[in-house]
Amino acid sequence: MGKPTGFLEYKRETAKVEAPKDRIKHFNEFRTPLKKEEQQKQGARCMECGVPFCQAGTMIAGMASGCPLHNLVPELNDLVYHGNWEQAYTRLTKTHCFPEFTCRVCPALCEAACTCNLDSQPVSTKENERAIIETAYANGWVTPRIPKVRTGKKVAVVGSGPSGLATAMQLNRRGHQVTVFERKDRIGGLLRYGIPNMKLDKSVIDRRIKLMEEEGVVFKTGVDVGKDITAKELQKDFDRIVLCCGASNPRDIKVPGREANNIFFAVDYLSSITKSLLDSNFKDKNFVSAKGKHVVVIGGGDTGNDCVGTAIRLGAKSVTQLEMMPKAPDERTEMNPWPEWPRICKTDYGQEEAIAVFGHDPRIYQTTVTEFIKDDKGNVQKAKLVKLEPKKDEKTGRMNMVPVEGSETIIEAQLVLIAAGFLGSQKYVTDAFKVDLTPRTNVATKPDQYETSVPGVFTAGDMHRGQSLVVWAIREGRKAAEAVDASLMGYSNL
Ligand SMILES: Cc1cc2nc3c(=O)[nH]c(=O)nc-3n(C[C@H](O)[C@H](O)[C@H](O)COP(=O)(O)OP(=O)(O)OC[C@H]3O[C@@H](n4cnc5c(N)ncnc54)[C@H](O)[C@@H]3O)c2cc1C
Ligand code: SF4
Ligand code: SF4
Repeated sequence: MGKPTGFLEYKRETAKVEAPKDRIKHFNEFRTPLKKEEQQKQGARCMECGVPFCQAGTMIAGMASGCPLHNLVPELNDLVYHGNWEQAYTRLTKTHCFPEFTCRVCPALCEAACTCNLDSQPVSTKENERAIIETAYANGWVTPRIPKVRTGKKVAVVGSGPSGLATAMQLNRRGHQVTVFERKDRIGGLLRYGIPNMKLDKSVIDRRIKLMEEEGVVFKTGVDVGKDITAKELQKDFDRIVLCCGASNPRDIKVPGREANNIFFAVDYLSSITKSLLDSNFKDKNFVSAKGKHVVVIGGGDTGNDCVGTAIRLGAKSVTQLEMMPKAPDERTEMNPWPEWPRICKTDYGQEEAIAVFGHDPRIYQTTVTEFIKDDKGNVQKAKLVKLEPKKDEKTGRMNMVPVEGSETIIEAQLVLIAAGFLGSQKYVTDAFKVDLTPRTNVATKPDQYETSVPGVFTAGDMHRGQSLVVWAIREGRKAAEAVDASLMGYSNL
């Protein structure tokens, strides 16, 4: 333990965040990390607990607690405190493929599980992670790791999100020849075309892809597997296939008027904006505009929050975010003790921006849409809402949210964004490979395994786990790579 009294001497300090009214003028990242010496003090706050829940990555009460990658958090924090940046970087790469992504977008399961929560504030492990990886890049320590020996085995990875990238990195470093197929025009999956640029600057992905290309991974964009190339062709050309296609089936809102113009799924909306930003800095105007519109976002989660922040940057007149469920408590309840994941109300960057610009939280709880009203040109103009209340289903005993009679209201809605979650894998890919599915249409495997019902075809990420997080996708990619390697070589040292 670096500094036994560190957690008593130093308060938690985190990056400087640009004021909401300033940051909405651009699409850049808006956090300025602490200076190195200040970050080192944050490392000193870690108590190197005997039982470090921060790195446990276990399920407690149905939710993950601690880092799913089992990052060596106490050791990393200690190395940060002592300024041993190079060793910290080496240690971090033992468990992690892409710290530069998680240090920007991870909800920091490590921090939620940190023992310091009990009496104070958690160690800033996520920002320590950022300091380690960015120091490593700045000092030229992140170099291509080209395998010395090639095995002659060929692996196809379908999908270039974080799970596909982690699979590809690991298998290539082991000496297998890896080709990643991506149907979009750019690599990255939802890192690229879901998560907005202000949360993850897309140059951070490009920097990593360049290194992976130098290591020998081949990337093929604009290839839709199951359409442009058949499963049979892929199975003939490659020894193993790993399906990492995400959970890209959005949940729809099936109410009268749904066919009106200007109602989009959140990811289609967000990706149109990032693509236009990357292609032409918005000069091509090839994106869904929110300018001067009353925007309604359906879904109170993180994707909905990204839609709120994006619509505000694009000049929305107002933004309303609808959430079916009641507001979560502001603090942990007795039923949700540490180190469980805290089920509390989080006000994220988009909501903060809405509060700064419009003077109130954009979220309306226990509310849903019952109808979209359009004008004579077919454009959505208004949304009919109804309040919901929890009611127990007598047959199943389950709590359902049911409409409150007489509670209907109508609000302006000239752009509607549906961020109501995802429903598993896409049928044309799973049909093409004839893999078995779970009842939730995720690709089925035995528990904690990655090979599908079709020998030689593996799966990882959201396509396997269901809609989740970047950190889980990376873990799945690493685990799937290990399974593929073992199936090719008879053992794996990954
Ligand atoms: C708007 C939004 C914001 C999010 N924000 C966060 C966040 O802040 N933090 C966080 O941890 N998580 C976040 N998530 C979740 C996170 O992005 C996902 O859990 C993660 O990206 C899943 O990784 P994946 O590799 O399994 O799939 P994906 O990232 O979905 O990548 C799948 C890739 O496969 C490609 N593909 C699919 N089918 C084919 C095919 N037939 N042929 C070729 N290519 C194909 C797709 O085009 C896509 O590029 C967010 C999700 C969304 C939608
Ligand atoms: S990957 Fe996420 S949970 Fe793991 S240490 Fe980093 S920020 Fe924490
Ligand atoms: S739980 Fe917190 S204080 Fe304990 S080792 Fe982990 S980061 Fe350090």
